Amino acid sequence: MTISAATKNELDLSNYWMPFTANRQFKAAPRILAAAEGMHYTTDDGRKLIDSSAGLWCVNAGHSRKEIADAVHRQLLTLDYAPPFQMGQPGAFDFAARVARLAPQGLDRIFFTNSGSEAVDTALKIALAYHKAKGDAGRTKFIGREKGYNGVGFGGIAVGGLVNNRRQFAGQLLPAVDHLPHTFDLAKNAFSRGQPEHGVDKAEALEAIVALHGADTIAAVIVEPVAGSAGVLPPPKGYLEKLREITSKHGILLIFDEVITGFGRLGAPFASTYFGVTPDLFTAAKGITNGVVPMGAVFASRAVHDALMVGPESAMELFHGYTYSGHPVACAAGMATLDIYEREGLLTRGAKLAPHLEEAVHSLKGKPNVIDIRNIGMMAAIELAPRADGVGKRGYDLMVDCFKNGLLIRVSGDIIAMSPPLIAETPHIDEIIEKLGAALDRLA
Ligand code: PMP
Repeated sequence: MTISAATKNELDLSNYWMPFTANRQFKAAPRILAAAEGMHYTTDDGRKLIDSSAGLWCVNAGHSRKEIADAVHRQLLTLDYAPPFQMGQPGAFDFAARVARLAPQGLDRIFFTNSGSEAVDTALKIALAYHKAKGDAGRTKFIGREKGYNGVGFGGIAVGGLVNNRRQFAGQLLPAVDHLPHTFDLAKNAFSRGQPEHGVDKAEALEAIVALHGADTIAAVIVEPVAGSAGVLPPPKGYLEKLREITSKHGILLIFDEVITGFGRLGAPFASTYFGVTPDLFTAAKGITNGVVPMGAVFASRAVHDALMVGPESAMELFHGYTYSGHPVACAAGMATLDIYEREGLLTRGAKLAPHLEEAVHSLKGKPNVIDIRNIGMMAAIELAPRADGVGKRGYDLMVDCFKNGLLIRVSGDIIAMSPPLIAETPHIDEIIEKLGAALDRLA
């Protein structure tokens, strides 16, 4: 594909209000991705960047897969749109049945959304509606976690625990929310590989929260099984099991936010399969369509689904949905994505690649300013000491340097969060690490 070297100069940058981007800084020196294929992006001035983050944790099968493009094209010419309101379209039923076959232990009732944020808000609403249907209407509180990222809907930022996402909306969030402590412990767990040894006590804190509010006021606990946006925080050993034990004991629903971990990121279809801990509901998005058509989903247990959907009364059915829920094009993209994932073994390929990624990222120990490295499955983080002039400045400069030198990285403050496409070969991982190491040296 030919890309005009002049694109950047021809672009009018003024109208597009960019999400999650320092707009003024960006517009002074834009970074434009114009094309992508396999493991690489191409910039508007024709330079190749190796993709260390699968776009934004989503392009698991690599970029520009023709099979998905063809499926989307065919679908657009067959049934472009169908109202999900009192009508169905075959693709949504087929795709729900297909993803349900991958779901752990009976979490096979699927509600489609268009994003991870919508999936989180949907899961929270289902949790409230479930308790109400069971005659437990007093269960209205949610327990999220510090440093959690659960999207940007009002529900998601209320249960989420990233201060930057919340502070502009203080006082306007869901009223009945409490938070578990985060599990990051640099003193005890620095340079850990896989699940850290220390921190199961952070799950035991749930008992104290339950004691404070009363179990009969709490609807659900929601956590990312591996915190992603906070900079890849794998759960300490025993942590998820403990949350499951405490929530079950008190009749509280456990929701996993698997928007990042779903669809093969850890080397298993879902984090719940990887860790062997089964929640009552979990969210997914991103990799569900290889990131190419917006889509999210909530997977619900039969018990949760049936409380609302089975029985003589339909009055308690969940009154909720989106114009684009189960969109024919998203379902077609999802089907083609799963064809690729299954044929190429990508839902479990991460298990084979993970040891190589682990060795590779940990080889950066000792590079300038590196204070921690951690990894699990095909997720890894390299944490840098913040510069004296402010948190995130070093990370930002590193991202810009990498962009100029052939590497796309995702930084979260001063943490580099790595999640290469699951089609990566070991030389790709080595190239990413080599480029990153060189950038760390250059910036020292
Ligand atoms: N939950 C988690 C765990 C996520 O990582 C994200 C996105 N990074 C979301 C929810 C929100 O997804 P979206 O951006 O598709 O709304």
